[in-house]
Amino acid sequence: MGQTTGARKRILSGMRPTGRLHLGNLVGALLNWRMLQDDYECFFMIADYHALMSEYESPAAISSHSREVLIDFVACGLDPARSVIFRQSDVPEHAELHLVLSCYTPISWLERNPTYKEQMQQLTSKDIHNYAFLGYPVLQAADIVLYKANLVPVGEDQLPHLELTREVVRRFNALVGREALVEPQAKLTSSPRLLGLDRRKMSKSYANQIEVADPPDVIRKKVMSMITDPKRIRRNDPGHPDECNVCDYYKTFCPPDVADVEDKCRNATWGCTDCKGRLAEVLVTFLKEPRERRAELEGTPERLKEILAAGAARAQAVARETMAEIKVLTGLAGW
Ligand code: SF4
Repeated sequence: MGQTTGARKRILSGMRPTGRLHLGNLVGALLNWRMLQDDYECFFMIADYHALMSEYESPAAISSHSREVLIDFVACGLDPARSVIFRQSDVPEHAELHLVLSCYTPISWLERNPTYKEQMQQLTSKDIHNYAFLGYPVLQAADIVLYKANLVPVGEDQLPHLELTREVVRRFNALVGREALVEPQAKLTSSPRLLGLDRRKMSKSYANQIEVADPPDVIRKKVMSMITDPKRIRRNDPGHPDECNVCDYYKTFCPPDVADVEDKCRNATWGCTDCKGRLAEVLVTFLKEPRERRAELEGTPERLKEILAAGAARAQAVARETMAEIKVLTGLAGW
C-alpha cells in the first residue's frame, strides 16, 4: 500500500445529498472541482451515509436527493468519463473501513471535535445525539483513506476536519508498524463569499438560495427579492456597493461589470431595480448551460443509472484492494 501510482495525484471530495444544489455549492465547490479534473484523478462522492446520520428519522428523501445531486454534479461539469462519480453507499467498503478505523480512534478525539460541539448546539431541528454522528469524522477518514487520496480540497475553516483524518492515519500506521495508509494533504481552495438572498449564509433551511435548476423566471423573481444596501432608501440616494450583496454577486459572476455597477450605484444614476434586473440576466446566462444539461439528464434516467453504476464499479475496484490490504494488516485476513 502507498502512494497512488501514475503521474496524477488523487483527490477525494464529496457532498451530502440534501437536495438540489445552489449557487453557494457551485461557487464554493463545484467550479473548483470541475477545474481539478484537468490535473488530478478525481473521486467525487455523493455522501449518503453522512446524510443518514442526521436524516434517519425521515430518510425517504435521501435517495431522490442523491439523484438531484448527481444531476447537478454532471450538469455543472463533473465529467463521468474523466472522474469517478459515485454514491457512497454503493461501495460498502466505506462502512467496513469505518468500523476498522473506529477501533483506532480514541473517543476523546471525537468528543473534542469543535464541529461536533457546534452542530450539537446549532442543529436543534434534528436529533443528532446518535453514535454515528459522534463518529462522523471516522467515516470521513475512511472515505478518504479508502481511495488513498493524496489531496482533499478544503477551505481554511475545514482544515481541522482533515487534521483529524491525518491523526487517525498516523495512529493506524504507528500501531500496525508501517506506512500503510496514505496521509492526505489539504488542497487549500479560496472561494468567494456568496451569501443568500437575505444576506445570511446561503442554505435551503433559510429558503434564501438560487438553485442551479431554477428556471429563468424564478431566478429573476429571487434576484428582485435580494436585500440591498440598507442605507439606500430612495432612487436618488447614493448607494454603498461595498455593503450590498447584489454587488458581491456581480463580483463573483460578472467581474467586468463591477466598475460600472459601482459607479452607477455611488452616483445614483440607476435604481436598485435596474441593478438587480441586469444581475438577473447575468445569472440566467451563467446557469443556461447547466440548466440545459440538467433537462437532458432528467429526460434520460437510464443514463443516470449508468453513470452511478460505472462510478460504483470504478470506486469499488480501488476500495476492495485497499480493504484487502487493511484486513491483512489488522488480522482480519491472512491465511
Ligand atoms: S444599485 Fe445595485 S449595488 Fe447599489 S445598492 Fe442598489 S442593488 Fe446594491
